[in-house]
Amino acid sequence: MNLIPSSRATNTFVSAYEVQQAVTDSIDQIPNNAKHVVIVGGGFAGLNCARKLAANPNVRITLLDKNNYQQFQPLLYQVATAILAPNNVAFNLRGTLFGHPNVDVKMAEVVSIDLSTHIVETAQGQQYRGDFLVLAAGSQPDFFGTPGADKYSYPLYSLHDAELLRSRILAMLESADRDPSLLAKGALNFVIVGAGPTGTEMAGAFGDMLQSSLKSRNRDKAYKDLGVDRAQILLVDAGNTVLSTFSPSAQAYAAKMLEERGVQLRRGTKVKEVGAGHVVFSDGTRVPTHTVIWAGGLKAVSLSSNLGIKTGHGGRIDAQADLTVPGLEGVYVLGDFANITGKDGKPLPQLASVAEQSGKCCAKNILLDIAGKPRDSFQYFDKGIMAMIGRNSAVAEIGEHRHELHGAVAFAAWLGVHAALLSSTRAKIEAFVEWAWDYFGAARGDAVLDRTEELQINWENDGEECASAASAANTKAEKAS
Ligand SMILES: Cc1cc2nc3c(=O)[nH]c(=O)nc-3n(C[C@H](O)[C@H](O)[C@H](O)COP(=O)(O)OP(=O)(O)OC[C@H]3O[C@@H](n4cnc5c(N)ncnc54)[C@H](O)[C@@H]3O)c2cc1C
Repeated sequence: MNLIPSSRATNTFVSAYEVQQAVTDSIDQIPNNAKHVVIVGGGFAGLNCARKLAANPNVRITLLDKNNYQQFQPLLYQVATAILAPNNVAFNLRGTLFGHPNVDVKMAEVVSIDLSTHIVETAQGQQYRGDFLVLAAGSQPDFFGTPGADKYSYPLYSLHDAELLRSRILAMLESADRDPSLLAKGALNFVIVGAGPTGTEMAGAFGDMLQSSLKSRNRDKAYKDLGVDRAQILLVDAGNTVLSTFSPSAQAYAAKMLEERGVQLRRGTKVKEVGAGHVVFSDGTRVPTHTVIWAGGLKAVSLSSNLGIKTGHGGRIDAQADLTVPGLEGVYVLGDFANITGKDGKPLPQLASVAEQSGKCCAKNILLDIAGKPRDSFQYFDKGIMAMIGRNSAVAEIGEHRHELHGAVAFAAWLGVHAALLSSTRAKIEAFVEWAWDYFGAARGDAVLDRTEELQINWENDGEECASAASAANTKAEKAS
């Protein structure tokens, strides 16, 4: 067992000696002196590290995550726009690590870490100590201090966020159908903040969603009154382009594809304030809306600020070339939680491929540590970048030299790459079936409004009071992180 006996760990007062003794006791029970690796976070980075280590019987792994699943963030916008179901983008961690007796998965939220003793403490009061610590707790939205954004906007970072947003969008369509006067109160104004890959993909898929609802409306009485033809999607960015990390021709293509889907681009515009029923832009425009989707930026989860060490850009922990933390023995930092430097000396972006490769490199270095050999430096293999703009439209820049693809070929490449990243054969098949329905039949998953609290909107009040579940969710996320 890795765990300090819970009766002792949950006592209100446990002496430091008792804790230490309990930890030591638990370590003493390990058969064959396998080294214990404690991994915080079962995302792309932590999971790939665990998988690689699991193949080595001389290592024992405890993987801690506040969820019992890995969420596949690149596809969250497809849940929000009812292309994929939640279980197409979230995978049970125990199932993913099935068949490895040396891996112990615990659903627990880590609240503090003593980096010198390697003791990790959870919100539930348990403690774990590893010979090695791997910190891979990922990111959370960064609202950059924008007034009201944390309370009233809908971020798109977790499965919970995506499900909430889908319900909100459907709640707005249903409300406007029931009472068309709500259009004047912004029921069908949807504002997406941030035209990076997340905001662009969300805007394009949302445009497709509204266009396919419009087709249904013209065909079928059941959809007759849905005001989709009067819906507006505004994509707002402080910069002058969409997809700023892509080439100018990819940016121009993406902007054109978005506009074809009815997305209105507001470039060179900042969001100054988000309210219960409005948003204010930097040029002073006030738009009535009850759905502001936040794709404006990320920072490390705030666990990083509780570690007692200096954090770097975005609240992330600076990693050394071998992914260890400077001055700390046996502590590794990975993925979105880390600032990892690329071979050009610049920080690597927060991407699934960086997280995945850093997880594998970390596992290799832990095994080298155990063997008493020098560690390797992390070398990122850059396969390129891509973004989906909508059905049959994508941009891809392949490899280090950024070979450009637009349109149907890039769309096919996008499907292949994202299916490959999915963790199981079943997940790949299910996602492909849904994509085929969407592509050939223009038919989406069932647009089920399963969180009816999203319908409880105080349309008369654009001030402080707001029944939005988003505010509750964001407050909860802030407290938790
Ligand atoms: C909407 C969106 C779209 C994206 N699209 C792409 C894309 O198309 N291509 C691409 O390459 N990248 C994309 N990314 C980035 C990519 O998803 C991340 O870079 C990647 O998920 C980082 O992996 P990670 O393992 O570092 O963190 P995560 O995948 O975030 O995993 C961190 C894990 O830590 C857990 N955790 C957090 N705090 C605690 C705690 N206190 N205690 C216990 N567990 C904790 C979380 O539950 C989570 O499971 C996208 C990101 C987002 C948000």
